[in-house]
Amino acid sequence: MRGAILRAPRDVRVEQREDPKIEQPTDAVIRLAATCVCGSDLWPYRGIEAVTDPAPMGHEYIGTVKEVGSDVTTIKPGQFVVGSFFASDNTCPICQAGYQSRCVNAELMGTIGTQAEYARIPLADGTLVATPGMPADDLLPSLLAASDVLGTGWFAAVAAEAGPGRTVAVVGDGAVGLLGVLAAHQLGAERIIAMSRHESRQQLALEFGATDIVTERGDEGVATIKKLTDGLGAHSVIEAVGTQESMMQAIRSTRPGGHVGYVGVAHDVQLPGDELFFSAIHLHGGPAPVRRFLPELIDQIWQRHIDPGKVFDLTLPLEEAAEGYAAMDERRAIKTLLRP
Ligand SMILES: [Zn+2]
Repeated sequence: MRGAILRAPRDVRVEQREDPKIEQPTDAVIRLAATCVCGSDLWPYRGIEAVTDPAPMGHEYIGTVKEVGSDVTTIKPGQFVVGSFFASDNTCPICQAGYQSRCVNAELMGTIGTQAEYARIPLADGTLVATPGMPADDLLPSLLAASDVLGTGWFAAVAAEAGPGRTVAVVGDGAVGLLGVLAAHQLGAERIIAMSRHESRQQLALEFGATDIVTERGDEGVATIKKLTDGLGAHSVIEAVGTQESMMQAIRSTRPGGHVGYVGVAHDVQLPGDELFFSAIHLHGGPAPVRRFLPELIDQIWQRHIDPGKVFDLTLPLEEAAEGYAAMDERRAIKTLLRP
């Protein structure tokens, strides 16, 4: 099969890879209908995360089940499925509590690499959620978004306790931040402040339900959030970047007693204990347990209540994955969808 491989920083190639097969009786193999490039794929692409061996890329996926292992009971060949970037058994105590991304048997899909024609899905019964039928072609982007960016934005909004009567601020205008806006809106937040200085992203944030746009960042951004909230800060803040600056911007934008939902993959973030102590805020985040939300998100998409697929502003054949990475790296595209 064909699949994307990162050979060195900024060197993504689509190459011949070995066809995946059932390795464990709990595996499934799916044929990808669509896959995409994630903001977190840009960390190794930019060389910020070291690339030593040629690495298969991609962890977002939707497609049709081709084959299942002998222990798989609920997932059947022919079904159209959505899964998360962590495979999970969905039965252990951590999964049962709703934290499937930290399942005791979790496997990271990124090491399997779903920017390919086929993918092996471990723990298929726990990981995959079947759609009610074969989706219409125009639903594919939104279903693919559910696999990571929508699920992650949704978790961030839930972790930040976005809801009626609350003001939500969103740090980060990538696909996750934008879908955090959508999630906060769906959860009934009264006011949603999107922090972005890019016009096309501001526009999408407004379409997804943002009520205010703040273009300042860092301490100036914090000051503007305070100004918009009677000097108090937001009730709920979504952090969707993962840098020192974005995390501190999120913490400082939150009012005492408020909640930060942080989902940007942290890179060298260090929190000052004294400031944290006196902030009197709740911090809740990590790798999003997307699996927890998949049934509800698939239902919302199936009924066309939400259209998170709008974050894909570039669609390319899988063979042109390199251009998909470059466009996101240079911020020419918010998110690239790849069609195998
Ligand atoms: Zn588990």
